[in-house]
This record gives sequence, C-alpha cells and structure tokens, in this order.
Amino acid sequence: MNVLEAVGNTPLFELKSFGMPERGVRIFGKGEFLNISGSVKDRAARAMILDGIERGLLTKEKTLIDSTSGNTGIAYAAIAAPLGYRVKLYMPANVTVERQKYMRALGAQVILTDPMEGIDGAYSAVRREVDSDPDSYFFPDQYTNDANWRAHYTGTANEIIEQTEGKITHFVAGTGTSGTFMGCTRRLKEYDPEIKCFNMTPDSPFHGIEGVKHCTCLTRHGFFDESISDGRIEVTTETAYATARQLARREGLFTGISSGANVAAACKLAETAPEGSVIVTVLCDSGCRYLSGILWGDGNA
Ligand code: PMP
Repeated sequence: MNVLEAVGNTPLFELKSFGMPERGVRIFGKGEFLNISGSVKDRAARAMILDGIERGLLTKEKTLIDSTSGNTGIAYAAIAAPLGYRVKLYMPANVTVERQKYMRALGAQVILTDPMEGIDGAYSAVRREVDSDPDSYFFPDQYTNDANWRAHYTGTANEIIEQTEGKITHFVAGTGTSGTFMGCTRRLKEYDPEIKCFNMTPDSPFHGIEGVKHCTCLTRHGFFDESISDGRIEVTTETAYATARQLARREGLFTGISSGANVAAACKLAETAPEGSVIVTVLCDSGCRYLSGILWGDGNA
C-alpha cells in the first residue's frame, strides 16, 4: 500500500451512547480521523493534487500553494511528499504549533499571516503571491476547486451508503470549504431524494469550532450552496467541546472540536427524527491536533 491508497475507506462507528434505542434511532460517525494524515481533508487534497497533475496544472517545476487552517495543509504535504512536489502554505499565526510542526516535518514551507485577519488574510496573501508570479505556482484553491467536493461525492458518500446498507435517513456535517457537505449531500440525494441532509453551523460567526465557518461567512466565495440543505443546525462552541469530550470518554473516539459539533448536531436531529432513523455524521479529525489547546485538560471531561 502507498500513502495515496491510505485515504478513504474509513470505518463507520456506531455511537451507541448517543443514540435513542427506545425509538430505534441510531447515530453513526464516519471515522475520517483515520485517514493517513488524520483528517477528512486527505480526500480533498488527494483529489485536487491528482486533478492538477492530470490537467497539466501541477508539474515538477511548480510549487503547490494554498491557504489553510491546518488540516488541508497537512494533507497537501502528506500527499505531495511521496509524489515529489513542493508545498508552500499560508496560515494565520494562531494555528496550533503542532499543526505547523507537522506540516514542516512533511517538508512543507509554512508562512504565518496576521491572526487578526484569520483565514481570509491567509487567502489574500496567497492570491497576491500567485498573481505576482503565476507560472511558479499551482494554486488548487480548495474553496472553488470542484475536485474537493467531488472527492466526497464519489468517495465518502458512496462508502456511507454501502456501510449503512443503504439505510441512511439523515446526514449532517459542518462546513469549512463545504466540500464534505456539498459532495455527500449531492450524492446522497441522488441515491435517495428522501435522505435529509443538514448543514451544521456554529451559532455565531465568532466561534471556537476550528475548521468550520459560520454559514453566512461561506456565501461570498466558493461552491457552497445552502439551497440543497434541508436546514441549518446551530451548535455552540461549549456544546462542541463537551460533546468531543463525551466522544472520547464514552466511545473511545479521540476527535477534534468540529467532530464534537457534528455529533451534537446529530443528537439534535435524533430528538425529532422518526422512529428507525439512521443518522450519519463526520468525525473530521483527530483529537491529537488539539493537545496544546483547551479541549483536553485536567479534569475537564
Ligand atoms: N473540521 C475540521 C477540523 C476541518 O479542518 C475542516 C476543513 N477546514 C472541516 C471540518 C470541514 O471540511 P470541509 O472543508 O470539507 O467543509
């Protein structure tokens, strides 16, 4: 097996302690933290790199450049390393130090931007660099690159259909670029228009659920199309943290904050879902990404 083959085909965990057995409502989490570099973004990174190579946009003379809050950068670096491509990543300086070190360990060049400007500042810096020297770079632009959501359309969603033996009734996922939500929703609704798909969104544009954006911050740019969603499910940062800790304690699943938020959204759905519902959500990344933050601390579980 090579690194590229170690992306996808992740297990689907039944989150028994979160389900509602009295009404036969089951909740499942797609174990995306078990991809080769530890997150759901491995799928998108592999797809965008292979698409760039196929279309002749990524060659050995060029450097892959993009902005990232962490997971996509790690994924680009992990996929590009065995293929022999250079990677340059812009990110806000407040991205955790373990993520920066991880990317550098995989050979990527990391450039830190003003944390006050967030991921948008990092994106603008990449745009300026690409515009000043377009021939030197391959800029996948994960927010607009259709290979991103297609990786979930062809991969994640079909795996979920197979793993639930076609019984999935509800899907819910948060949106960073929205690749996971858009790709899965498009495929699931094509498979069975009765499947209800919801976008999890932080309860405010200013939140602590790393890796996802408030839905109103996603409409300006990119392929996010909220009209395909059956509804928004809001989750507070506090609930996301608490649920991530429950996932670890009760299920042995050591995941990040957005995974906690997704499972909290699935629990909200479960409260009103019809008897026999099969709700699927995404466990986006590993809890190891947050060891230096406040998610895991003494006595806070
Ligand atoms: N959770 C985390 C931790 C992420 O890093 C991301 C991607 N930024 C997401 C969720 C959302 O993934 P997507 O870009 O496919 O919407």
